Amino acid sequence: MPTSFDPEVLELPFYEDAHRRIAEAAGAWCDSRAVLWEEVRALDPDTAGRRLVRELGDAGWLAALDPQAGPSAPGEDHRALCLRREALAYAEDLADFAFSIQALAATPVVRYGTEAQQRRLLPGMARGSLIGAFAVSEKEAGSDVASVALAATRTDDGSYRLNGRKAWIANGTIADVFVVIARTGEGPGPLGLTAFLVPAGTPGLRVERIDAIAPRSFAHLHFEDCPLPADAVLGRPGKGFVVAVDLLERFRTTVGAAALGFARRAFDTALAHVRGREAYGATLFDLQLVKAALADMEVQLNAAALLVARAAWETDRGSRRFARHSNIAKVHATEAAQGVVDAAVQLLGAAGIVQGGVTERLYRQIRSLRIYEGTSETLRMAIAGSLDMRRAARAA
Ligand SMILES: Cc1cc2nc3c(=O)[nH]c(=O)nc-3n(C[C@H](O)[C@H](O)[C@H](O)COP(=O)(O)OP(=O)(O)OC[C@H]3O[C@@H](n4cnc5c(N)ncnc54)[C@H](O)[C@@H]3O)c2cc1C
Repeated sequence: MPTSFDPEVLELPFYEDAHRRIAEAAGAWCDSRAVLWEEVRALDPDTAGRRLVRELGDAGWLAALDPQAGPSAPGEDHRALCLRREALAYAEDLADFAFSIQALAATPVVRYGTEAQQRRLLPGMARGSLIGAFAVSEKEAGSDVASVALAATRTDDGSYRLNGRKAWIANGTIADVFVVIARTGEGPGPLGLTAFLVPAGTPGLRVERIDAIAPRSFAHLHFEDCPLPADAVLGRPGKGFVVAVDLLERFRTTVGAAALGFARRAFDTALAHVRGREAYGATLFDLQLVKAALADMEVQLNAAALLVARAAWETDRGSRRFARHSNIAKVHATEAAQGVVDAAVQLLGAAGIVQGGVTERLYRQIRSLRIYEGTSETLRMAIAGSLDMRRAARAA
């Protein structure tokens, strides 16, 4: 079994044999790429991102992004997407980032694109030769997606002009195509948004690089009178909010899966350290408080793994309430991972904060997962909103 997975979790009835095979192959691939991970860490994030999307495409990781190429391999569903993110996050943050943002950008094209849009974009995205990004956030519209302001003005010939900004866009500096949510004004608030496909070379589009806590391709986008043809609309005019929310609700479980991968790597690193670190005539592992810390981490990992597995399974079975479970999984897995990574740094002592070391990297990399694709606070609000009030009425 590859290092990234807990075999007992994969045995859960939420998974089928096809998923176990995917996990085994994905984890083994990641384990065998230690040299690649070293190499990409030494590159600038843009070069690393382009190389990783290409490597993932060549190795077939992105094949499911092009359903028209033929029927997907057995088990290539949401659970598989989560297992793949878990394996990549365990191995290398940049690889998880490359994989997840490519999937995030391709999924709305798969779900809402016309046949022509799919033919134009998906084969390249699945090969890793065409890089995508998804742009909904703005400085004044983050958690509150309904307040997106980037204006898409319809002209007499049915084409559009984009004016405004997007903020905090993953892959912003390397994307060839952006899925952009803009205001077209069919109705108020969430009813007046539309999704567009915007090629990176569109005149009037300017990319402003942002440096984040963990180096990645990350940018603000500026749109100044960007012309877009009528067939740049993805899905239907006025349905952009649905495109965005549907995507984010699905991908939250995968963020939980990535958090699990980061946390498991931190745990394994800490366990190896305390087993080998001599202290007081024995090892750190022999100290009760150290054992308690490890036990707490193990409890958190197990809870996160169960919630992620359940949420992915709910999505695959088409549960109407899958979003409630993806919210629960993301909140718990990302919050727990933050604690597990912090505990791992503590167990390594000074060795835990040395720049470039595993725990130091994880400490920086884990932080943003509690923010993107729904902050922990907004998801708690959504979970509270999904509580079954009939139970409360019965209990009263
Ligand atoms: C690493 C990273 C990658 C990202 N990638 C992308 C991307 O590819 N595409 C994209 O479109 N966006 C991306 N984002 C942006 C991300 O989606 C937003 O940062 C996120 O939605 C939060 O919005 P905000 O930053 O404006 O914070 P705000 O919405 O301003 O929130 C600030 C604080 O207020 C709290 N808050 C807000 N509303 C409520 C509420 N109703 N109840 C309680 N508390 C609340 C939040 O929880 C938070 O603590 C990325 C962000 C990060 C960090």
